[in-house]
Order: sequence, then structure tokens, then C-alpha cells
Amino acid sequence: MDADVIIVGAGLAGLVESNELVRAGRRVILVDQENAANLGGQAFWSFGGIFLVDSPMQRRLGVRDSFDLAWQDWQGSAGWDRLDGPHGEDEWANKWGRTLAAAL
Ligand SMILES: Cc1cc2nc3c(=O)[nH]c(=O)nc-3n(C[C@H](O)[C@H](O)[C@H](O)COP(=O)(O)OP(=O)(O)OC[C@H]3O[C@@H](n4cnc5c(N)ncnc54)[C@H](O)[C@@H]3O)c2cc1C
Repeated sequence: MDADVIIVGAGLAGLVESNELVRAGRRVILVDQENAANLGGQAFWSFGGIFLVDSPMQRRLGVRDSFDLAWQDWQGSAGWDRLDGPHGEDEWANKWGRTLAAAL
């Protein structure tokens, strides 16, 4: 096989970059550790879901939402149980998640 560019990772970044390069006339090899059935990286695993908090569309559709509900949901999914341990491995993930949930 011959190519101008080899991209490692067929997540959104790799797919978008591949598309841009092919459109520009470059020959691209795109490789991924996953098989073809799992194309898309994390975007595949996220099932196309988008995390929104009390957005105008939710309100228009009568979906009641709030930061408290979103944060409760996120903590339930994340299962951060190492906030206070000797190394506090989950501390920054928890802080980052809370900040993002508040900003959405
Ligand atoms: C459940 C879930 C929900 C999400 N919800 C949202 C959301 O609401 N809003 C939002 O903005 N984002 C969300 N995200 C995050 C978003 O999906 C990711 O940030 C985005 O898809 C990352 O794209 P990427 O191409 O940078 O990386 P990735 O999707 O991680 O792609 C990297 C690719 O590289 C491959 N790879 C890694 N190492 C190697 C190697 N050594 N050799 C070969 N291949 C390798 C991997 O298999 C993977 O396919 C969510 C993610 C998940 C999992």
C-alpha cells in the first residue's frame, strides 16, 4: 500500500482529517485498533448522544431538566469513588465534570 498520509485512529478527528485530505487529493491510509464494526472511536460508543442541560429545545418540548439533575446523573454514571483516598484519583475528573455540567 502507498499513501501520502497515514492516520492512526478512526475517531471523529481521524475521520474528519481523512475526509479533508481525500478531498484535497491526497491518498490516505486510516488505521484503527478496533475492527470496522466499531468505526468512529468514542463517537461510536456515545451512540450519538449529546449531553445538554435545560436547553431551550428541552424546555420547548416540556422536558424538565436542571443542573442538579444533570450532576446527579453524571455522578451516578461516573461512579467516582476515589475522591478522598490517599491519591484522590477521581478528584480532578469530578471537578472537571461539575464545571462542565454547570456550563452546559
Ligand atoms: C458515552 C459518551 C458520551 C459522550 N458525549 C459527548 C457529548 O455529549 N458531547 C461531546 O462533545 N462529546 C461527547 N463525548 C466525547 C466525544 O465522543 C469524544 O470527545 C470524541 O468522539 C473524540 O474523538 P477523537 O477522534 O478525538 O478520539 P477517539 O474517538 O477517542 O478516537 C481515537 C481512535 O484512535 C484509536 N486508537 C487509539 N490508540 C490507537 C493505537 N495505538 N493504534 C490504533 N488505533 C488507536 C481508538 O480505537 C479510536 O478509534 C462522549 C463520549 C462518550 C464515550
